[in-house]
Amino acid sequence: MAVTGGGGFLGSHLCEALLRRGDQVVCLDDFSTGDPANIAPFLGDPAFELVREDVSASLEVSGTVDAVAHLASPASPPDYLARPLETLAVGSRGTENALRLAARHAARFVLASTSEVYGDPEVHPQDETYWGHVNPVGPRSVYDEAKRFSEALTQAYRTNRGTNTGIVRIFNTYGPRMRPHDGRVVSSFVVQALAQEPLTVYGDGKQTRSFCYVDDLVRGIVAMLDHDEPGPVNLGNPVELTVLQLAELVLDLTGSRAEIQFHSLPVDDPTRRRPVIARAAQRLGWSPEVGIEDGLRRTVEWFASRPDDIAAALSA
Ligand code: NAD
Ligand code: UDP
Repeated sequence: MAVTGGGGFLGSHLCEALLRRGDQVVCLDDFSTGDPANIAPFLGDPAFELVREDVSASLEVSGTVDAVAHLASPASPPDYLARPLETLAVGSRGTENALRLAARHAARFVLASTSEVYGDPEVHPQDETYWGHVNPVGPRSVYDEAKRFSEALTQAYRTNRGTNTGIVRIFNTYGPRMRPHDGRVVSSFVVQALAQEPLTVYGDGKQTRSFCYVDDLVRGIVAMLDHDEPGPVNLGNPVELTVLQLAELVLDLTGSRAEIQFHSLPVDDPTRRRPVIARAAQRLGWSPEVGIEDGLRRTVEWFASRPDDIAAALSA
């Protein structure tokens, strides 16, 4: 198996799950937003190979490949807003390089797409038949449109080249190995709560998201890799929370006395988001199992065991 972006948050959990079941794994990553510490424990495993490269420039793997999971892309809004051209490049050239690799090896290809293809949705909750509501020239478009293009390219390889492709649309996912300073809401709130720093709620906090624990999400990607399903298939946990509810839950679970501070809402921030996951249940036999309190508790424990990383993130 080849995993692009295998040094990132989701990618490293995917590599770990594949190694655990006995697969050979090649991880391709340039560590632009990933952390080498995520995959350091696998480096001594003969079944694991690390290739440090920018997959937008080239993507070569020695030996045979039976599946390609394409996860390489910045994913956190501050990350992709800081790397707009790189984000568009990895969604276009990077995706084409990954598709070519799969086509050369007659391998299964799975694209890690996103709920962001639905933009600021006018349909709620979102199922896979919804075409989305994306501002093509707004700041988030570098990510949203890159992923929409990735989906189109993936579909074109399926139709015109006969490549065995699949698309998963991943909704907000959280858990251990998120970077403490990656700016996503769960990592931000947990780090702030543990450090007794104010929780930074953007806007009035009434916007919603649906948060999936990483182990559940990775189980869904593995199911898609093992299947011939073309998708798109939503993967996410349909339990929807406002951002303010999430802040209060994190304060409860950490026992933190930190206050909540309101900041301005980022441009084009989606107002609501909740997946319909009937397709994943029917076609992949997948559904999430870890509830938000349990998943957040595991995430808090992980961050709490890294006080130095938290201090470094807060001083950055
Ligand atoms: P992440 O930033 O932790 O991981 C992305 C990885 O890709 C990093 O290790 C980074 O170094 C690598 N990468 C980026 N550009 C690269 C390039 N040009 N060449 C090689 N490697 C490159 O993010 P994540 O949360 O693990 O997201 C992984 C994938 O899942 C992304 O494609 C993202 O769009 C998708 N996704 C994630 C979420 C989520 O909530 N985590 C939601 C929707 C979609
Ligand atoms: N958010 C927030 N405070 C933060 C980080 C994010 O209130 O410190 C909000 C953000 O505006 C959005 C939601 O939380 O409404 C989810 O943001 P995230 O960046 O995690 O993911 P995405 O916007 O891609 O869904």
